[in-house]
Amino acid sequence: MSSLRRLEVSELKAKADLARKRLVGVAMRNGAGHIAPSLSCVDLLTALYYRTMRLDSNPEWPDRDRLVFSKGHGAYGLYAILADLGYIPLGDWENFYKGSLLHGCVERDLSRALEASTGSLGHGLPLAVGLAFGAKLQGLPWHTYCIVGDGEMQEGSCWEAIQFAVFHQLGNLCVIVDKNNLQAMDRLDDVLTLKDRPDDLHRKLDVFGMETVTVPGHDLAALDAQFSAWQGGKPGSAPRALVAETIKGYGVLAMENKSFFHFRLPTEEEIKKGVRYG
Ligand SMILES: [Mg+2]
Repeated sequence: MSSLRRLEVSELKAKADLARKRLVGVAMRNGAGHIAPSLSCVDLLTALYYRTMRLDSNPEWPDRDRLVFSKGHGAYGLYAILADLGYIPLGDWENFYKGSLLHGCVERDLSRALEASTGSLGHGLPLAVGLAFGAKLQGLPWHTYCIVGDGEMQEGSCWEAIQFAVFHQLGNLCVIVDKNNLQAMDRLDDVLTLKDRPDDLHRKLDVFGMETVTVPGHDLAALDAQFSAWQGGKPGSAPRALVAETIKGYGVLAMENKSFFHFRLPTEEEIKKGVRYG
């Protein structure tokens, strides 16, 4: 067993920038859409994988913290980070969408640190709750993290899972909502979120019994501070929910907060309009 080096907070932005640069580059070269939902959650993944989660160079270390990436259509940031950590061979990542074992949505492969198959929305959170419940029953020390989309939270299965997690006081579970206010090709408040309740998800999670905090989702120091404050959560206390206020397409200026970029690739000209990752 050899633990991975935990980065300093000051080192996180460079990692997030690198993941964004690589995911945009690989996706454009290989013709893979779904860049925008990947870009919104890179900072969440960066804070978790390089600072918060207990990991080992062996992706199947039994005591590792688990991350279930429930919004499976935004997996490219996850792949970029797992490749940087050495869990996914670089060749697999660079040939993603071109016949490698990596697919547009996540397929479970523990040897590559991919904990659960996701993409059909509303399934990853129940799986994560099951993992946390299993750890509680067996008295195991690891934590479960689950990243869900804000549109995905319209699925009834998510709220069934949350009721179960609250009833069983799964304090070893942390749910992170990538709240970019867009779902596929539409705005949440044009679908099911009332326009006068922009904090709807926070309020619902709170009244369901989750310990809920809203954090700016591209502020790596703020994310790290919240995850640090919650580190060591144990069964017997309320499960946690972090609502991360994010921007879909974050990092490529032409794509940011534009619903039509849900699947569409940017052109070279659109990239030249500016990126945040240098
Ligand atoms: Mg969304």
